[in-house]
Amino acid sequence: MAVKLRMTGRQHAALSAHLYPGDGKEAVALALCGRLQGRESHILMVHQIVPIPYMECLVRTPVRVTWKTDLIEPLLAEASKKGMAILKIHSHPGGFPKFSETDDIADRELFSSIYSWIDDELPHMSAIMLPGGRVLARVVSRQGEFQDVDMVSVVGDDLQFWRPSPTDAAESDPLELKSRQFFGEETYRRMRGLSAVVAGCSGTGSPLVEQLARLGVGRLTLVDPDVVKEKNLNRILNTSRLDAIEERFKVNVIADAIAHMDLGTSVQALPVNLIDGQVLRQLAECDVLFGCMDSAEGRYYLNRLAVFYCLPYFDLGVRLDADGTGGVSYACGSVHYLQPDGSSLIGRGMISLDSVQAEGLARRNPAEYARQLKEGYIRNVHVERPAVITINMLIAAMAANEFIARLHPYRRVDSSECAIRTFDLRENDHLCQPDGEPCSLLAHYAGRGDARLFLDDPAPELQP
Ligand SMILES: [Zn+2]
Repeated sequence: MAVKLRMTGRQHAALSAHLYPGDGKEAVALALCGRLQGRESHILMVHQIVPIPYMECLVRTPVRVTWKTDLIEPLLAEASKKGMAILKIHSHPGGFPKFSETDDIADRELFSSIYSWIDDELPHMSAIMLPGGRVLARVVSRQGEFQDVDMVSVVGDDLQFWRPSPTDAAESDPLELKSRQFFGEETYRRMRGLSAVVAGCSGTGSPLVEQLARLGVGRLTLVDPDVVKEKNLNRILNTSRLDAIEERFKVNVIADAIAHMDLGTSVQALPVNLIDGQVLRQLAECDVLFGCMDSAEGRYYLNRLAVFYCLPYFDLGVRLDADGTGGVSYACGSVHYLQPDGSSLIGRGMISLDSVQAEGLARRNPAEYARQLKEGYIRNVHVERPAVITINMLIAAMAANEFIARLHPYRRVDSSECAIRTFDLRENDHLCQPDGEPCSLLAHYAGRGDARLFLDDPAPELQP
């Protein structure tokens, strides 16, 4: 089973500031981590960082740090109560890119006391942050054995996915990094190691999938409960009239097209509704989320998933409104990039909790929804809007470009400036905005991982 570690860009920056205070000496921090006990992987997500104060360290030199380990006790109590994990992370100011023999001895001792306190078989981790920011991590087992973590990801303005391979080790060398070709072998290599979710495989979803597959993303998970209909044929790539006649699921048609490309991308096609605890947990094992849905409920749960499981989330939206006299009153599209502990689609005004609730009601209890709609308590959530392939493809390409630019940065502008991209074809405007304030409803759940409250339906913030 693969093991992974995830943290947000803000968490990485906070750790870096503590672990590298500028005096050239090692430092150490602990973190309480949420868990994802998945089917194929076990993933720890940093939830809360506890820096060990420099004053509380018994020894701090350029090659060694020791500290009073009773400082860990309050954290162990919390981890044990909530089923969470402990991460210990320290710095190597000299740049030594491996765990040292001293680390082995210290880890065996520390983790044996962690395992004796938290009495389950679930893994805890030890990590090193190198001077360039790269993080190496390993699981320390109850028996004192070490297992390299398969991937460490940092979800910030830019995206890092570090794997313990020899080619990756060269990444600490900026010259080596610079010499690798953007949009060439190196971009391809980064894509190849990733697993991405595309939720919604219609207007914007299908052209996005086309790009991700041809860019070489290693694995794609497609989610969409609908079958191909005649009215979709003007905008869903790779669909045909026969697919509509045979009422084939969109995800299956698109999965076949990717298989036919034969470019080495593996596909998991899920013809199901996203809003299901098991489906969401399965998606959480992937590395990147793309949401290509109209529904407020779907977007909300994907946003929530990204927060709890520390995933980068790209949300694509298109709005095309007819004005009733043959023209259009809106012709816009947007790409929102969301970080787990940043702002949310709610805070950005893209969805409202009212519409999430109304759609939830329509899905679970159509009769009650119809009654409330008739009596004017809620607004109609099922609005058919015109859809045009040209706008959909523009927005899908904007999202794919945004993803590439964060995975393999090359822009002259900082990625933090590009959290929201809006294209208005009617006004001929292209707007770019930075992220706003962290979401007051969701940001504090960042990295919480498996918890009953994630799957609670409705979620606490939806309760009236
Ligand atoms: Zn060390």
